[in-house]
Formats: sequence, C-alpha cells, structure tokens
Amino acid sequence: MKGRVVVCKEYGKPFVIEEYEVPEPAPGAVILRMTQAGICGSDLHTWRGDQNQQDLPIPPTGRAMGHEGTGVVEVLGDGIETDTAGDPIKKGDRVVYAAVFPCYHCRQCLKGNTNWCMNRNYPAAGIWPYFVATYSDYLYLPARHPFFKVPDELDDNILGPVNCAMGTVTTGLIRAQAGEGDYVVIQGAGGLGIHATAMAKEMGADRVIVMDRLENRLQLAEEFGADHTINIEEFNTPETRLARVRELTDGRGADVVMELVGRAELLAEGIDMLSNGGTFVEIGDIVRGREVSIDPSKLLTGKSIVGSLMYKPELLPRLLNFLVRKQDVLPFDKIVSHTFPLAEVNDAFAQAEWDQTQTPITRAMLVP
Ligand SMILES: [Zn+2]
Ligand SMILES: [Zn+2]
Repeated sequence: MKGRVVVCKEYGKPFVIEEYEVPEPAPGAVILRMTQAGICGSDLHTWRGDQNQQDLPIPPTGRAMGHEGTGVVEVLGDGIETDTAGDPIKKGDRVVYAAVFPCYHCRQCLKGNTNWCMNRNYPAAGIWPYFVATYSDYLYLPARHPFFKVPDELDDNILGPVNCAMGTVTTGLIRAQAGEGDYVVIQGAGGLGIHATAMAKEMGADRVIVMDRLENRLQLAEEFGADHTINIEEFNTPETRLARVRELTDGRGADVVMELVGRAELLAEGIDMLSNGGTFVEIGDIVRGREVSIDPSKLLTGKSIVGSLMYKPELLPRLLNFLVRKQDVLPFDKIVSHTFPLAEVNDAFAQAEWDQTQTPITRAMLVP
C-alpha cells in the first residue's frame, strides 16, 4: 500500500507530491487515514516564502507539510485496543490527535509543557515512517502519542480545526486567564479568530470585539457570539481603532487582546488597547525576524505580554465535549468554507492566500 505526501522543497516554490510505502506500525503505534487537513496561516507563510532558510532551515529531503487535521483509524499496532482516554477503538473510528510531536525528554516536556518542546523540528520528508504530517493520505502516530475517539454525535465537517486552531486559541485564552465579565479584543477573524470568539464567550467574556477587513468573516464572528465588530477598512488607522475599542469598553480598554493575524505591528496596537492589568496574547506572529518597537513604560500598570503556541493534549477531549454541547447552537459547520482534493494543494493555497488579496476563505481543508 502506498500513499501521497505533500512536501515543501524550497520556500516560496510550489509544493511537490511524493509517494511512499505505508509502513507497518510498531507495537503501540497507529496509522490514520487522513480525512481532512487544514490550511493554517502558518502553512501559508511557508508556501508564500515568508520563512527563510537561515532562520528555519528546510531539511535536506524537504519538509512534510501540514499539522492540522483529522482522520480515521486505518491500522492499529500490536497492543492498541483503546484510545488515550481508554475508549475502545477499531479500524474506521474517527479520531482527533495531538498535533505536536514532542521529544518527551527535554526540560519543558518533563515539566508537562510538551507544546513548548525544545527539540521540536519540522518533520522531514522521505524518512521512515514517511507519513509524519497531515497533507498526506496517511499519518503515523508513534506509540503513546495522544489520540481521542470522536464522539458519534459530532459532524465530520467540524472536526478539522480542532487540533490546531481551536486548541491554540483556547490555550491562549487560558494563559491570559480570560474569564467572567472580561472584555476581549480579537485581532483577525479567520479560523483562529472565530474559534477564539466562541471560546471567549464560553469562558464568560462579557464583550468580545472582533477586528478584520472582511465583512463575511466579521458576520461569521457575530454568529459565534461577537458583541461588536470593527472593520479595519472603515477604521483604517491604529488611532481610530484604539478610539473605537475605548468606546466599546466603557473607556477602560480590554482585559485581553489576542493577536491572530501575524503582523508584528499589531503587538504595539494591541498593548494600547489593554486596560491596566490586561494581557496581550501573541499567537499569530510565527514568522521569525520581524520586529516592532514598544514603549515599555506602558507595561508598568500590570499589563502582560504572553506568547502562546499550540496546547497540551489533555485539552483535546475537553474541546470535543465543548463541540458536543455547542454544535447545535453555533454554526461550526460554516468555519470550513472551502475544500480541495489533496492533488490540488498548490491551487488550494493560491486561493486561501490572504496576504495580497482578500480571500473569502475562513478555513480551507484538503481532503485526501
Ligand atoms: Zn496551525
Ligand atoms: Zn521536548
């Protein structure tokens, strides 16, 4: 049995599709057949060429692409009869798995911060077990890698973003200690921002204010509970946006501001939007080498800047339970706006591109 893997050979160049033999799973390992693989903003940076070889080298064999997605059990290695939570598992079952593949022995892994693993590298293509990323027909989960059976009542088309977008923004809100009565500003209403809106409301936020330049995304944010939206085409300077946020937060500013766009200047803008004691959460700026200057005196009134990356695997069953509670209340089925066959990966990226053009895409999924 063979399967396809999408590989980045060089930043800014079209991806190539390679074929490999699907390996036999080691005892305790699981092979998934991928059913959905999300095009995340970080994947777009790689495709577009924002990353460079000095800061983030591509392995000599190329980098296997994709980290967000979901699949069904294809082969269970010897000894595997349940998922990580102990539910019986069999071929064909839908699963959501932890998108981080940590080393489990560095200092942060030992502390339980597997999402901050210090030995985490992008997966190299063409090296056993070959299926190490989501833009593939299959995915190899090594022994003891966390994965969870999807509750039967959840629809297929809402599962794709759970193990990146949803887990990442939920962790960002937890790190900001977002809670009851908070005013939350969300910069960017793509897949991350829509999930962040839903989760901020779930955690008790009194007002969620969402910014984007696309009206269709802002409308979707409203459907997910945004109390106010700010179209940055209308409020097209940092000053007018700051004034609007002040107006919408009774003059005091936001308790939490989340950067989910990937533009360094939004850090400076977001700090100005915070109330005293507020927290700015940096998530979107994954491209290395970009800089912004801030006035440190603005932090003295108890303001914090926290970075947040991915999540700990124990979050995944909680997110699935959240979806079970909310799938009939919130339109999660609208988040994935476009799907593309795996073979059309380069076309999918061109359409999902939001840097130079305005894309109507909220989240695009490759469907192997
Ligand atoms: Zn992602
Ligand atoms: Zn580690």
